[in-house]
Formats: sequence, structure tokens, C-alpha cells
Amino acid sequence: MRSSAILAMTLAGVLVAGIPAAATDNAASFERIAALKQSAIAGVEGRRKLSQVMNDTVFSFGELAYQEFETSKYLTEVLEKNGFAVERGIAGMPTAWVARWGSGKPVIALGSDIDCIPKANQMPGVAYRQELVEGAPGHGEGHNSGQAVNIVAALAVKELMEREKLPGTLVIWPGVAEELLGGKAHLVRAGLFREVDAVLYTHVGDNFATAWGQPNGTGMISVEYTFHGEAAHAAARPWRGRNALRAVELMNMGWDMRREQLRPEQRSHYVITNGGDQPNVIPSVASVWYFIRETDFENIKRNFEIANTIAEAAAMMTDTKVTRKLIGTAAPRHFNRALAEAFQTNIDAVGVPKWTDEEQTFARSVQRLSHGQEDGLHTTARRLGRPPEKPESGGSDDIGDVSWVAPTAPLFYPSNIPNLPGHHWANAIAMATPIAHKGNLAGSKVMAMTMIDLLLRPDLVAATKAYFTDVQLKSQKPQPLLAETDEPQIQINRDTMARYRPEMKKFYYDATKYDTYLDQLGVKFPTLTRAH
Ligand SMILES: [Zn+2]
Repeated sequence: MRSSAILAMTLAGVLVAGIPAAATDNAASFERIAALKQSAIAGVEGRRKLSQVMNDTVFSFGELAYQEFETSKYLTEVLEKNGFAVERGIAGMPTAWVARWGSGKPVIALGSDIDCIPKANQMPGVAYRQELVEGAPGHGEGHNSGQAVNIVAALAVKELMEREKLPGTLVIWPGVAEELLGGKAHLVRAGLFREVDAVLYTHVGDNFATAWGQPNGTGMISVEYTFHGEAAHAAARPWRGRNALRAVELMNMGWDMRREQLRPEQRSHYVITNGGDQPNVIPSVASVWYFIRETDFENIKRNFEIANTIAEAAAMMTDTKVTRKLIGTAAPRHFNRALAEAFQTNIDAVGVPKWTDEEQTFARSVQRLSHGQEDGLHTTARRLGRPPEKPESGGSDDIGDVSWVAPTAPLFYPSNIPNLPGHHWANAIAMATPIAHKGNLAGSKVMAMTMIDLLLRPDLVAATKAYFTDVQLKSQKPQPLLAETDEPQIQINRDTMARYRPEMKKFYYDATKYDTYLDQLGVKFPTLTRAH
């Protein structure tokens, strides 16, 4: 028996278990769904090469928040070539876009982030620190993979929709500037998710996983305070000056003292983005950039008000003036139960890729390198648990904003190595290797199968909507964190990217000449130690 036939039988067995008997009209429609899922899996497999090329190409661009120009140009061209209508520069962000295909209901929106991390430039496939371009940004979170996951799934499903004449609209969109929590609130405000029935959001993970309800983690406000003083000769006439850097220091001290009286759920951190020019000139302008995180809307806003008061107080103490600029926001996330359960059924059917011994050895070497637990790649998918009774603090993702305007669920797919630091060059190492390629393809299968569920099961679309309106919207009252006047801060990273891009260009992946990016770089996978 052909192995695909065996796979078909095994999957049919698993898929039957995932759908309640009453949910489908009859056995015939159930069989049709199972058969279409098989075709979708074959359609994803058939796009293995495209998946690898998209993943590796975006990896090689390594673009920071708001500067995803090459990435967006490349991805939208792929989508246009495949029949999608693309709108570029949406929501006031030159690198944002939306691609649409099909017509009618349901409207399924597939999203994934595309930006990268400062100073995370790294040669892939080697278990040691090796920059391609010193000091340059790189995909130290793995955002190079998600659009490949989504686009391959969408193309496989589009082919079936054409063949079977299935109604429905596919919408593909990028998370621009996710690392700054600076994109999705603007997409929401521009109305991108009006009329959307389901948002399937992919994010790189170290295992297969999904979630519903409010997970651990926070929402947040990202804000830069700028103090304006008066310059003077720092030695000859210091009394003539008003020191803006001192105001920044006082604000930071004030905030650090005040932390003791904030709820333990808060997380906050800052960097001084402008501390003056040189010591003998009293800084006339100085800036500090804060992330203010909490687990619910009310406390995010409360802590933001406290920070504003402390900023005013610091200005008063130094006789300077303070202005503030909102850089990003993220709502606390809330994910859709019906969608997450559909994801999980398909995760269980697809399973985690079979890793080779070489891939496992490589993963343990990278874990050792970054001082993480050395237990290699996960071999079984995570189970879907209930959301925490009381969400713990942690990171944020502006998919939270989307989750409050349309039913949304996340799919984490197994393309990276567990136990890495996060936002770090070590997180880039696996992201253009067979580990990422296999994880992405598995992710595309789950995405495609879940899209088939949405296209053929009105009961699922109805359950998704019912959870959104009857459960989620009754759990917390979403409050806008972005004011009407707050614009996307698209100038951020412009200078940094301009500085590194000429050198980085020399390392862009040329898929017409090389099979993989590792081939182009001359890396034999896996390389565990540096050649001496
Ligand atoms: Zn991310």
C-alpha cells in the first residue's frame, strides 16, 4: 500500500473523532471534509520548495520594525503571481498590505508577523555565535517563517476552493512592527477586520500549540517621554542650563521607587533613547522609552497615568518641559475557544515532525550554547488546556487588539528550538535550517485543514461567533489604548536599517542560484563547532 494511502486512513480515523457527529449534516459531508483535508495536505506537500524559498528569503532580508520593505515587496509579489489582489501601504504604514482572494462568506484572515530583532544578525545552521554583518539586525524571534506557513496553506486551499467551487474569502495580512507592538492596532483602526469571521494567526514556536481565553501575558502601552531643557557650557556656566538628562534620570528613579506599590502583575522596562551629545554640553533634550505592561485594560491605563504623573514631576524638579509620544499598544489577548479546538484537532492529526538524530544533536548544541536546558526538540504536540484562572504576567503581542474585534486563535508551529532566551541571536540559528522548513510545512498543514473546517462547517463558524459575542465580549470590556490622533511611528529604525542594509544586501538569498540559504552561505548542516 502506498504510504499516502496509509496516511489517509490514519488521518480519517483521527479526523472523525474531532468533529461531533451532530455537527455535520451527514456522513457524506463528513467524508468530504476528510477527503478535502487530504487534498489540502497534498497541496501543502507540493509546495515544499516554495515554502523553503519564502522562509529563507525573508530570513535573509532581516528587517526591523516598520522597515520591512524588501519583505513586503517580495511577499506581495508572490501573492499577486498567485491571483491575490494586493493593497499596499495600508493604515498609514508603507510596509503594511492586505491580499485578498475569493468572494463571499466565510471571510478567513490569516496573519503573521514579519519584522526582526536589533543586533540579532546570525549565520543560520551553526551552533556558535557568527554574525554575517556585525551589529546588524536579524530574525532572532523567527518572524521570517509565519508568512511562508500562511501563504502555502492559503494556496493549497485556494486550489481546492477553485476545484470545488467553494464560496469564501481569503485575506492575508502581515504583522508590521510587532516587535514594537506598533502595527496591529492601526490595522484594526483602519477597519481591516470588519466582516472577518475568523482570524487564524500563526506565530513561530518550539512546539505545536494553540490557546483559548486569556493566556498568561500582558497588554501594554509603549511610550517615549522627551524632556526639553536648556544647553549651557557644563563647566563654565552650568547654572545657565536646564538638564534634560537629569529629568530622565529622575523619572526613572521615580518609577523604580513606585514599582513597589504596583500590582505584581505589572511588567515595565525602559531604555534611554537620547541621553545628550557630549559631557561638556548640558543636554537640552533627552528621551526615555517605556513599555508599561499589565494583564487588564484598567491597570494598563492606570499605570500609564502614574508614569505620566512621574514624568510631569521630574520635569517640575528640573525646570524642564516634557512631551510624550505613543509608540505602540497591545490589548491583553483573548482567543476563541471554538477556533482553538479546531486547531487542536488538526494539530493532533498532523503531529510534530519526525526529527532526525542530527537535528536533535544540533538542537541540544544550540541549547548548550545559550545556557538553556539541553533536552532537544519536542517530539509530541502540546495538549490544549484551559486558560489560567488568573493570568500571570509576561510578554505581549498586539494580536490582542485583533482578538477584540474578530474571533481569533493562534497557531504556534514547531520551527524553533526550545529553551532559548528569546529576542536573541540564538533564536535565529534554526530559522533557515531543515528544522524550520519541516516545522513550517507541518504548520501549513494545520492551517489548511482548519481553513477547510471553516469553509465546510457552518456549525464551526457559528460556534466561533457565539463564543466571541456571548463569552469573550462579556469577560472584559475592551478599551481603546490608541487615541485617534496617534499615528504609526514609521520613522523608527529608518536610520539603523539604512546603515546596515548595504552590507546585508550582499547576503540576500538568491533562490535562482542556490537550493537553500545554507547552500548559499556554504554551511553544512548541522555544523556544531567552529572550524579552526
Ligand atoms: Zn513574535
